[in-house]
Amino acid sequence: MLSVVLPAYNEAACLGELLERISRVVAAAVKEYEIVVVDDGSTDETLAVAEAAAKRLPVRLVRHPRNLGYGRALRSGFEAALERGDIVVTLDADDSHGPELILSMVERLNEGNDLVIASRFASGGREVGVPRFRRLLSRSAALVGRVVFRIPGVRDYTSGYRAYRSSLLARLVQPAEGPGLPGETGFAAGLELLLGAAALRAPIAEVPLVLRYDRKQSKSRLQLRRALPRYFSLMLRHAVQTPPVHTGTDE
Ligand code: UDP
Ligand code: MG
Repeated sequence: MLSVVLPAYNEAACLGELLERISRVVAAAVKEYEIVVVDDGSTDETLAVAEAAAKRLPVRLVRHPRNLGYGRALRSGFEAALERGDIVVTLDADDSHGPELILSMVERLNEGNDLVIASRFASGGREVGVPRFRRLLSRSAALVGRVVFRIPGVRDYTSGYRAYRSSLLARLVQPAEGPGLPGETGFAAGLELLLGAAALRAPIAEVPLVLRYDRKQSKSRLQLRRALPRYFSLMLRHAVQTPPVHTGTDE
């Protein structure tokens, strides 16, 4: 069973069409799948659009009574997805992550990886329509990641488009099994999960992502004033706690 988790905050404009596209792509290759839409306290028609889609597609709805943040939306989505899924894919509901990649990500998981990242910085990946400052941000995080954390196979440390094998995800998110991630409520949750996976020495791979920010109709919800300190403290904590993963012959 493949579970696709979509955190959605005020994404009514593109959600209906995106759910159709995901279904078309996945149904062609996978026998059993579901799409878990996490409505993170939207004030637009997101809920109504998801409910209408659920009448014709395998869509399951999780609702937050108010906006709790990207990290909380992921957490609620994971809880639902882990009830059934062997593979859990997360992608943005803002139409910037083309669902066509899901199948090659699943293939890479089946080759023996536990986590596959759709990466802007893998060879063949790029960004379309991303504001300069946002480009700088993801590149800075990638640079710090490459220098400080050096996770084998990883170039994009902040992409929210990922496929997880459920056994790894359960170890990361279920408190009975491990650290109970994500603790971060906002955007830093994505990095937190990646650093958690690396600490478990999970095999991680990337596939190239063409990030279509030009298709995004909603405004980005990333608030730097809130997110940056969270990113910094998370990186600092991990840099102190976990020694970098070496791949050389001295191990
Ligand atoms: N999102 C959410 N709750 C929030 C903020 C964002 O569920 O409080 C969702 C949003 O609808 C999108 C994803 O999380 O599907 C990532 O947010 P966004 O696309 O705005 O961030 P960006 O891609 O610009 O970093
Ligand atoms: Mg987005």
